[in-house]
Amino acid sequence: MSTSGPSEQPCGSGCADALARLWAYLDSELGELDAARVQAHLDDCVGCLSEYQVELVLKRVLRRGCTEHAPQTLRLRIHEQLVWRAEP
Ligand SMILES: [Zn+2]
Repeated sequence: MSTSGPSEQPCGSGCADALARLWAYLDSELGELDAARVQAHLDDCVGCLSEYQVELVLKRVLRRGCTEHAPQTLRLRIHEQLVWRAEP
């Protein structure tokens, strides 16, 4: 009985790998090989791509603002919008 949709759950070790490197990727701290690997996964995986976009937006907000921590509500709002938009 397997009813898991392709974009609703993390898709496995590739996701864990990509998500673990997401911040380093955003900070351009990854080597060429790792960065390419993360990018390839983001091209493939809607779930990780939306997560990446959330982090990207958050990073910009944090940079612009003076708070160190984004409120959880902001994070959820961005996430909801992106996930909602990504649905077919
Ligand atoms: Zn993924």
